[in-house]
Amino acid sequence: VSGSRPRDLLELKDIFIAVKTTRKYHKSRLELLIQTWVSRAKEQTYIFTDGEDKELRMRTGVNIINTNCSAAHTRRLCAARCLWFCHVDDDNYVILPSLLQLLSTYHHSQDVYLGRPSLDHPIEAAERVKSDGSVSVKFWWSRFLYQQRPGTEMSPWASLGNFISTAEKIRLPDDCTIGYIIEALLEVMLTHTHLFHSHLESLQKLPTDTVLEQVTLSFGGFENRRNVVSIVGGFSLSEDPTRFKTVHCLLYPDTHWCPKLQHH
Ligand code: UDP
Ligand code: MN
Repeated sequence: VSGSRPRDLLELKDIFIAVKTTRKYHKSRLELLIQTWVSRAKEQTYIFTDGEDKELRMRTGVNIINTNCSAAHTRRLCAARCLWFCHVDDDNYVILPSLLQLLSTYHHSQDVYLGRPSLDHPIEAAERVKSDGSVSVKFWWSRFLYQQRPGTEMSPWASLGNFISTAEKIRLPDDCTIGYIIEALLEVMLTHTHLFHSHLESLQKLPTDTVLEQVTLSFGGFENRRNVVSIVGGFSLSEDPTRFKTVHCLLYPDTHWCPKLQHH
């Protein structure tokens, strides 16, 4: 069509990534993320936690938001700048090139809610925001979600303070509340994608040659330490029990701590 411009390539700066964590996981989980994928997206990644950790902030220079105080600022910052809002847990590896590629397939003007549901059925809750609670609504709950222009679109229900009262009204935890706001209030339906992975599935079943094409990876909890992606690289299973370092070095072999592989 004459007059139409080629679509601008999506860049990392168009994306806001929120990592949800908690004080007790700063050492065991967060440090690994900061050492790996977060180091490649430092400016657009914000760690949301519940406990102050000045030492970690000073040493690594990452954005850490203690949700007790300064979340309002961040949300404003994102609303102004970002096309996409991404939410991940502290046991996820985000494969940034795959994320960019996936999000590039959607047009800027579309409202999109992308995720992988954690349950095989939608959640049902009494509608207490738009009505008095006598009717119920159904919506999908997904751990990983990506939505366009959240600051502007979600604002009546999701701005600071309102978000908490919305959550209290429907009596569900925060990540469920986001699903409720997007699907039930904004009426943007979840697009299911299989590129997001959590430890609720059997991660070793992912074919090795497709691991780097996924968007998020995870690892099993303490009860199931062997639930990790099967990938071979410079680290043994005991050196890299989550496989995140191995994945990182395959993606970014120039990283200073990656084992130097012999090439010809
Ligand atoms: N989490 C949290 N507060 C807590 C416990 C967990 O914010 O008291 C976060 C945790 O950091 C992670 C997410 O919630 O980002 C899910 O926690 P976890 O992986 O331990 O549980 P599961 O995935 O089994 O639900
Ligand atoms: Mn988890």
